[in-house]
Amino acid sequence: MQAKEQHARFCYYIPEMSRQRAERKEMERDLRCALAHEELQVHFQPLIDLDSGRICSFEALVRWTHPIKGEISPEVFIPLAEETGQIITLGNWVTAQAARAAATWPDHIRLAVNLSPTQMRAPGAALGILHALRQAGLAPNRLVIEVTESVFLEDCVHARHFMDDLTRAKVHFALDDFGTGYSSLSYLHRYHFDKIKIDRSFVCGPQVGPHSDAIIRAVACMGRKLGMEIVAEGIETAEQATSLHRAGCTLGQGFFFSRAVSAQGAQDLLDQEMSELSRFRIAN
Ligand code: C2E
Ligand code: MG
Ligand code: MG
Ligand code: MG
Repeated sequence: MQAKEQHARFCYYIPEMSRQRAERKEMERDLRCALAHEELQVHFQPLIDLDSGRICSFEALVRWTHPIKGEISPEVFIPLAEETGQIITLGNWVTAQAARAAATWPDHIRLAVNLSPTQMRAPGAALGILHALRQAGLAPNRLVIEVTESVFLEDCVHARHFMDDLTRAKVHFALDDFGTGYSSLSYLHRYHFDKIKIDRSFVCGPQVGPHSDAIIRAVACMGRKLGMEIVAEGIETAEQATSLHRAGCTLGQGFFFSRAVSAQGAQDLLDQEMSELSRFRIAN
C-alpha cells in the first residue's frame, strides 16, 4: 500500500518537473532573444527627500514586455538570468542605458542600479562599471549601487574587493531589502554603506503593525548614528509617508510619489518639479 502511494506521488512529480524545466528553457531562450531585440526597457522610480519633498535620485528598474506573454516581472526573470549567467549581459546593458539617461539629469540627482551577486563576482566587474560611467559621462559619485545581503552569504572576498574598489572611486552603496533574510548587523559594521533601504514589507502589506513601526524607528536611529540615510520603500499613502518621516526615515520611495516611469517620464518629473520651484520663487 505504502509503496503504491509512493509510486503514485513519483508519477505525479515527474511531468510537473519536466514541465517546469521546459518552461525555464523556453524563458531562457526568450530572454536571450529579448536582449538582442530590444524587448527590455529601463524604467526609473524616484526617491524623495522626505524633508524637502524633492526628488533626489532615481532607481533603475528593468522591464520586459514579451511579444506574446506581455509584461514579465523582474522578480521572475532576474533570478533566472542569475542562474543562467545572462545577468551579466543584462546587467551591463541596464547600467549603460541608465547611466546614459542619468547623464542628462541635473548634477544633484543620483542614479541607483541593482546589482546581483553574480555581477559583483564577474572578473573586472568594478572596472566595467567605471568604464560604463565614463562612456555615459556620469561622475562616479552620482551612482548608487543597491545590493542585498545575499551578496555576502556566498562570497565575501569578491564582494569586498568590488565594494572597496568602487568606494575608492566615490561610488555609493545601498543595502537593499533590509529586514528580509538574515539582516545581520555585521554587514553594516564590515562594509561601507551610505544608505539602508528598509524592505517594503515593513511599510505596506499585511504584516505591517506596531512592531514594524518600532523596528523602523530603531533602524533609523542606528542609521543616523552611523551617518547613513534611511530609505523607506513601498510608500503607497500620504499617511505612510508622514509616519515614516516621523519615524526618522530620510528618503521615501513608492507608488504614492510615483511608479517607475520611462526615461522621458523621469525627465518630465524633473521638469515639472523645476517649474513648480520657480513658480514658488516668483510667488515669494
Ligand atoms: P527592489 O530593488 O527592491 O525594487 C523595488 C521594487 O518595489 C520594484 O519592483 C518596484 O516597482 C516595487 N515598488 C516600488 N514602490 C512600490 C510600492 O509603493 N508598492 C509596491 N507594492 N511595490 C513597489 P520591480 O520593478 O518589480 O523589481 C523587483 C526586484 O527585481 C527589485 O527589487 C530588484 O531586486 C530586481 N530588479 C529590478 N531591476 C533589476 C536590474 O536591473 N538588475 C537586477 N540585478 N535586479 C533588478
Ligand atoms: Mg533596489
Ligand atoms: Mg528593495
Ligand atoms: Mg526587492
